[in-house]
Amino acid sequence: MNGRMLVLPGDGIGPSIVAQAMKVVDGLRDRYGLHLETEEALIGGAAIDATGDPLPAATLTRARAADVVLLGAVGGPKWESLDIKIRPEKGLLRLRSGLGLYANLRPALLHPQLAGASTLKPEVVVGLDLLIVRELTGGIYFGEPRGVRTLANGEREGYNTEVYRESEIRRVAKVAFELARRRDRRVCSVDKANVLEATELWRNVVDEVARDYGDVALSHMYVDNCAMQLVRNPRQFDVLLTTNMFGDILSDLASMLTGSIGMLPSASLGEGGRGLYEPIHGSAPDIAGRDIANPIATILSLAMALRYSLDAPAMADRIEAAVSRVLDNGLRTADIWSEGMTRVGTGAMGDAIVSAL
Ligand code: NAD
Repeated sequence: MNGRMLVLPGDGIGPSIVAQAMKVVDGLRDRYGLHLETEEALIGGAAIDATGDPLPAATLTRARAADVVLLGAVGGPKWESLDIKIRPEKGLLRLRSGLGLYANLRPALLHPQLAGASTLKPEVVVGLDLLIVRELTGGIYFGEPRGVRTLANGEREGYNTEVYRESEIRRVAKVAFELARRRDRRVCSVDKANVLEATELWRNVVDEVARDYGDVALSHMYVDNCAMQLVRNPRQFDVLLTTNMFGDILSDLASMLTGSIGMLPSASLGEGGRGLYEPIHGSAPDIAGRDIANPIATILSLAMALRYSLDAPAMADRIEAAVSRVLDNGLRTADIWSEGMTRVGTGAMGDAIVSAL
C-alpha cells in the first residue's frame, strides 16, 4: 500500500492536466502494481460555484485524511470580481495553512532536450538540477506588527516585520538536509545575515542543524549574491535553503532558467511527510479548453509525491524517465514546441507519457 491521494483539479486548465496525471496513475497501477487510492474534491472557483466557498470543509477534511494532495490550479476571470476573502486563490492559501505545510520545494531541472527554451545560453544551463527549499509559513509575509499608519506629521508609513523562531528555522533546515542526502549532499543557505538580525539567527540555527548532518556540505550565501550566481552559474547549486520572501523571489528566477513554466512541479511539505503537490503555473484561462496546455508539470508533481511522501521512488523514476523519453522522441506541446518537433495536445502528451512508462 503506497497511500491515499486526494485529487483537486480546480479551474481553467486544471481539470485537463490533472486528467493526464490520473492516466499515469492508472498506467502505473495496471503495469507496475502501484497501490494508490484516489478520490476527487472541489477547490477554487469550481468549489465557489458549487458551494460558495473556495475551500469547502469537506475538502479540507479529506485533505487531512490523505497522505498527499495533487492539485491542478485555481482561479480565473470569472471569479476576479469577488471579495478577496472568497476568491479561488484564498482556498489554496487556506489549504496550505490548514495542512501546516511549512516547506516549499521547487526543483529547477533543465531537460537537455529543451536547452534552447531557456533565455540563458545552453552552456550555462545544460545539466542544471537544483532544488529550492523555501520556508512557507513564517517570516515577513506573516510577521506582526504590520500595517500602514499615519505619523504625527501626517505622513503615512508602511511597516512589516521579519520574524523567525528558532523552531521554524530548524524544521525547514532539517527538510533541506534530508533532501540533500538523496541528492548531491550540498546545502547552500541563503540569508542577509549582514543586515537582518532575524536572518543572522537563521544562519546560526542552520549551522546547528548541520552538525547532525556531517555527510552534507553546508555553505552560506547572501541573497543578493545568490540572485547574481543563479544567473551567472546556476549549476553550482544542489539544494538552496532560504526564507519565505527570499525563496518567493529566487524560486521564480530559478524557474525561468529552464525556459518553460509548463514543465515545473512543486511540493509543499508538513509534519509526517504529508504534502501538497502542484505545478508552479496557474490556471492559464487564456488557453483553457483548447487541448494545448502542457501537462508535464502536473505529471512531474505526481512523481514528486511518489518520491517524497509515498515512499515509491522507483515509480517516480519511471515517470521521469517516461517524460524524458517522450521529449527525446520530439513530442512537444505548444509552449515548448520548436522547429522540427512534433506538436501534440494535452491529451496526446498524456497518452504518450503513459505509453512510455
Ligand atoms: P498562469 O501561470 O496561469 O499563466 C501564465 C502564462 O503561462 C499564460 O500565458 C499561460 O497560458 C501559460 N501557461 C501556464 N501554464 C501553462 C501550461 N501548463 N502549458 C502551457 N502554457 C501555460 O498565470 P496567470 O495568467 O498570471 O494567472 C491565471 C490565473 O491562475 C489567475 O486567476 C491566477 O490567480 C491563478 N494562479 C493560480 C495559481 C495556483 O493555482 N497555484 C498560481 C498562479 C496563478
